[in-house]
Amino acid sequence: MTTFLSPATSSLSSYLSPTIATIKLPVLAHNLVELRRFLAPGCEILAIVKADGYGHGSIVIAETLAHLGISKFGVATIQEGATLREAGLTGTIIVLGGIFSRQLQDLLHYQLTPVISDTDLAQQLGKALSTDQTPFPVHVKVDTGMSRLGLKPEAVLNLLDSPLFRGPLVIESLMTHLADADNPDPTFTLQQFSQFQAMAEQLRLKGITIPCLHVANTAGMVLHPQSHLDMVRPGLLLYGYLPPQHITPIPLALKPVLSLSTQIVQTRTIAAGESLSYSGAYRTTRPSRIGILPIGYTHGYNRLLSNGGEVLVENTRVPIVGTICMDMTLIDITDVPEARVESNVVLLGSQGTETISAIDIANWQESIPYEVLCNIGPRVNRVYEPLT
Ligand SMILES: *Cc1c(COP(=O)(O)O)cnc(C)c1O
Repeated sequence: MTTFLSPATSSLSSYLSPTIATIKLPVLAHNLVELRRFLAPGCEILAIVKADGYGHGSIVIAETLAHLGISKFGVATIQEGATLREAGLTGTIIVLGGIFSRQLQDLLHYQLTPVISDTDLAQQLGKALSTDQTPFPVHVKVDTGMSRLGLKPEAVLNLLDSPLFRGPLVIESLMTHLADADNPDPTFTLQQFSQFQAMAEQLRLKGITIPCLHVANTAGMVLHPQSHLDMVRPGLLLYGYLPPQHITPIPLALKPVLSLSTQIVQTRTIAAGESLSYSGAYRTTRPSRIGILPIGYTHGYNRLLSNGGEVLVENTRVPIVGTICMDMTLIDITDVPEARVESNVVLLGSQGTETISAIDIANWQESIPYEVLCNIGPRVNRVYEPLT
């Protein structure tokens, strides 16, 4: 369910669940302005919108970024790319993840751009192309230490030297992916970076021209500005977060785009010494007022937050008590007498002077803000605050 609300008329129809993710598109625009200010003029942006735009809704995010002048988008799969094309996105859509050979026709049909990190797949792509589709632009990935996707430098040289790149395929960019860019110890990142630079230099000496070099994810671009090169690939940064481990002050005033909220659907009074929710994992130590929230792990609210996370209600921080259920979560509102049915509850975001960020939630569930955001599932209604 996707709804657009103008701030002036923000009310939901009664049948909708109040468990909503509010996505402020003006904040996305603000983060993009901050990023552009930080980049050298001419450095391009490949906006990463995989995983449904990190849970923000890839279609609306990509459309908004396109409106703000972004023309390149990164997704993980053919299916994600097809979804954006079906929605009418016209920019370049780069598929960052692995591609199955059976998906090559879909790649061509939806005019998606592959990242080549497999010589066999490059051969098959060359064969699948009709003459009017060549030369077909591809990005080529070199593995400099992530050891996930990517060809080893030797294989990149062989591939780019092969007949495939003198006919059917043309290289649009050479890229690599940083494995440890948020580590305060930069050693590994610097090694990866110099290996990448050496690769680019080797190609140049062989007379192979690469129009675009790109390396940097959020942590890379923020902590290692020399990694910006011709293009950067921000994901997390656009949504308002810096790498979890960052320690150095960073000249970027980012703001979280997404907040997650719901309402108390019922309140209970429970005597001291009673157990709450499944498995009796919480026992009241005093007469307690408990609020029931219509959100659970099926919405992406992780079960690891049981007896550990906090939420905001009536401008007060209160604890989650007991085990998080499929569709419900219990909170202790004993100390917040104003809390009542229909009180707004913020699970991620701000209320009064209190704030809970995706990093706080990640710490409570021993995860990273990426996972917190991406896991906010399809049962959470998305409400968009439009650009003004
Ligand atoms: C997801 C991804 C990114 C974006 O990473 P962030 O840390 O979110 O900025 C960049 N490059 C590649 C290849 C990716 O898969």
